[in-house]
Amino acid sequence: TPAADPASSSTVPLRAAIAALPAYVPGARPSGTAWKLSSNENPYPPLTSVLAAIQSAATDVNRYPDMYATELVETIAGHVGVDAAQVVVGNGSVAVLQHVLEAVVEPGDEVLFPWRSFEAYPIITAVSGGTPVTVPVTADGRLDLPAMAAAVTGRTRVVLVCTPNNPTGPVVHADELDAFLAVVPRDVLVVVDEAYLEFVRDPQAPDALAVLRAHPNVVVLRTLSKAYGLAGLRVGYALAEPRLAAGIRAASTPFGVNHLAQRAAIAALQPPAQAEMAQHVDALVAERTRVADALREQGWDVPATQANFVWLATGERTAELAAAATAAGVLVRPFAGEGVRVSIGEVAANDAFLALAATWR
Ligand code: PMP
Repeated sequence: TPAADPASSSTVPLRAAIAALPAYVPGARPSGTAWKLSSNENPYPPLTSVLAAIQSAATDVNRYPDMYATELVETIAGHVGVDAAQVVVGNGSVAVLQHVLEAVVEPGDEVLFPWRSFEAYPIITAVSGGTPVTVPVTADGRLDLPAMAAAVTGRTRVVLVCTPNNPTGPVVHADELDAFLAVVPRDVLVVVDEAYLEFVRDPQAPDALAVLRAHPNVVVLRTLSKAYGLAGLRVGYALAEPRLAAGIRAASTPFGVNHLAQRAAIAALQPPAQAEMAQHVDALVAERTRVADALREQGWDVPATQANFVWLATGERTAELAAAATAAGVLVRPFAGEGVRVSIGEVAANDAFLALAATWR
């Protein structure tokens, strides 16, 4: 029999929700000398002790990793100050979030989230069989928690609270989140996505652990991709009460965190790496202030960012500005017709973007 033509397409039906999905377009890979400010990555090289841990773990990759990532889970539990039974790890927090939804969403359940927000939210919602319900962020890029509370229906199963919000940057305030949680039914899961937590300096930001203690329907989502610079290894985690945590774990991919990632993440949470990480994050926060101030001085309206990126609402000029930035050697993330998100990177990269931005005022 002749080999099947790999180019001929099958008649296997895709689930309607999957066939209709828009692609998740990641930040372009830089060619040549371009600066990459399009994926909110950490511009510093891997933490010294993390790199050493990865190198020494490399000799063991013929073996399966620890399926339950026991040492990593215990390390995270000690680091954040919760019980190990409250920690679920996964292949990046985006995978953990997918497992959270898969654990609780029944077909047709509503998943409520702000928009514009993290572009994986609608995708994960569709994959889990949920129905997306979106509530616009305010003109200054903040989550509109009162409007989100008003949008909760009898079908709402999950609410996603992104703080700081990707791509606009502001955090929700503790009192706003408290008021929101006071009115959301206790059988609705509220995910507090803190991917950019370590960059937050606003004293009004919520203390997610206190929120979790007060509200067992809360799941806190964190990652080592941003502040810890482990984006390429994929380690994220959820904090939840033990029964929910067990459900998320049950929905997770077996061996979901690979061996190198487990060893790297354990090293990243030890004191030497913590100190190095904190220095890098402080420098990036200082750069964030410098970049946001400079943009405002140029006349841009920059939302109050607490993350490692800034948002410029460039509207109809978005594609054009992004193309001009690429031509100038700086990759930014355009959201067609809305704006561009620009990560805080190396000082020279930030300067290159500031020079470009000045010519667009
Ligand atoms: N949540 C938010 C708000 C994000 O911006 C990101 C990364 N873009 C993630 C989660 C996922 O990060 P990771 O899967 O690398 O942990």
